[in-house]
Amino acid sequence: MYNAVFLDRDGTINLDTNYVKNPDDVIILPHVPEGIRKLKELFGFKIVVISNQAGVAKGLMTLNDVHLVNEKIQLLLKEYNTEIDAFYFCPFHPDYDDEEKSKCRKPSPFMILKASKELNINLNKSYMIGDRSSDIEAGFNAGVKSILLSSEIIDKELEQLKKKNIFPSYIANNFLEACEFIIKDFGGNN
Ligand SMILES: [Mg+2]
Repeated sequence: MYNAVFLDRDGTINLDTNYVKNPDDVIILPHVPEGIRKLKELFGFKIVVISNQAGVAKGLMTLNDVHLVNEKIQLLLKEYNTEIDAFYFCPFHPDYDDEEKSKCRKPSPFMILKASKELNINLNKSYMIGDRSSDIEAGFNAGVKSILLSSEIIDKELEQLKKKNIFPSYIANNFLEACEFIIKDFGGNN
């Protein structure tokens, strides 16, 4: 079995420009390639993207746009000698699609559980990193430790979580700090 670090995409790996649909607009955030490389090299974590892409449901982009952006992210990471192991995304939204289809959407743990089954991942020793309350909630619902990335929206995100009595395992100032928390935490429990 593998252990995984699940990553939100927009706002975590790449700059969130509000519905990232053009591969040319992809900007990888600071320290992300370095952080991913460390997680893989030190502990052999699988790196799995778990992303809501409701822009598809809303007609703002196509499935192909999502795939092209994912490919661009992969290409940019490979320039730093690292890569994502798998991309999962939910293109549905309950305002536009039926409930059954939309159940993949974070904060549901659906995509994390699916990835865990398909990629043979042990959730007991896996983590989720994201910049939104829905990332932390999805991680919580899947039973993994979750790290919230600080951003200008963090107060709002923490308030959302507090309402549900869910707290991130750690709040990190940036992606590298999140990785350092995981390395310490995982190393300590090994
Ligand atoms: Mg995000």
